[in-house]
Amino acid sequence: MKRYIIFLLFCALPLAIMASPENYTVVIDAGHGGKDPGALGRDGCEKEINLKVALALGDLITKNCPNVRVVYTRTSDQYVTLYERAKIANKENGDLFICIHTNASRSSSAMGTETYVLGLAKSDANFEVAKRENSVILLEEGYKEKYQGFDPASPESYIMFEFMQASFFDQSVLIADYVQKEFAKNNRIDRGVRQEIFLVLHQTKMPSVLIELGFISNREEERFLLSAEGQQKMAQSIFSAFERYKHEYDKRTYTQQTAIKPITIDITIAAVEETPTAKQADEIVYKVQIFSTNKKLKPTDAAFKGWKECSFYEETGLIKYTYGATSNYNEIVALKKKVNKDFKDAFIVAFVNGKKIAVGEARKLQQSKK
Ligand SMILES: [Zn+2]
Repeated sequence: MKRYIIFLLFCALPLAIMASPENYTVVIDAGHGGKDPGALGRDGCEKEINLKVALALGDLITKNCPNVRVVYTRTSDQYVTLYERAKIANKENGDLFICIHTNASRSSSAMGTETYVLGLAKSDANFEVAKRENSVILLEEGYKEKYQGFDPASPESYIMFEFMQASFFDQSVLIADYVQKEFAKNNRIDRGVRQEIFLVLHQTKMPSVLIELGFISNREEERFLLSAEGQQKMAQSIFSAFERYKHEYDKRTYTQQTAIKPITIDITIAAVEETPTAKQADEIVYKVQIFSTNKKLKPTDAAFKGWKECSFYEETGLIKYTYGATSNYNEIVALKKKVNKDFKDAFIVAFVNGKKIAVGEARKLQQSKK
């Protein structure tokens, strides 16, 4: 059963990629606009930077990739609701959704780039970013109906959207990783790939990333991001990441086209096998994920900060280190609190029969058994 499920996962991934390499649409979303300025700096505001970088990125793609269609959610200083942005992306059948934003912090020393992919809110700091980027929906009329009661200030609302886009998660991580690597090559500070719940990402039905170009609240970064040179550099980095990702995509699309028959057969087998095993008790284990690396570390490595008996699992080409293992959710929450003292970004992950699943899903499974 386990074997089939894993197999199915491997096969399902390329299936998510349906468009042919010649027919590829990238949707570029410049965050904020019009009456919503986004984060404010001393000399400029977020919406201007986002738009300039978005347009420069679109230009680079149009000039260099004749087979790629570029769609913008806005091309001028206009207010577009989050709902509308996602609608454009879905209606245009986007194969990739890139949101461009600029960060802000109460601390003027905070600086660097971040790229977000969909995931559960895992730390207060990240939740703050998500709240700020999502709070724009409060400016929209009738937002309660449109977002099904979504309240950007409540963590529970974020859990509601969890899992909506799991099939695109790996692809989103891939491009997010490339974006951060390109920023680092261009001497920008790399604050890493992060998981977060952003409403605009959740409503898109394609791999999606949200890029924070830097901190407008930092004088040096604001100056850089407001300069034409800075904007061009950021666009160039994202473009290089896109090219790499697209190359990977084309390869997978080719594999999928030539291997379509066995995939169909495997799915049938898995479906048949699923029924009898559904009666078996699922073993749910929670762990605290402390960090990910691209190489295996010795248990004595300084990166563990003295925490012993860390285990790991592999996902999307990364080694992900975890601490603790329990089927008791309250226990893992308490443990996470302790771990957070040394690893601020640590968060809870869940596994069912050894397969990683969303934490909310694991809890639902446990609750349904009670
Ligand atoms: Zn923003």
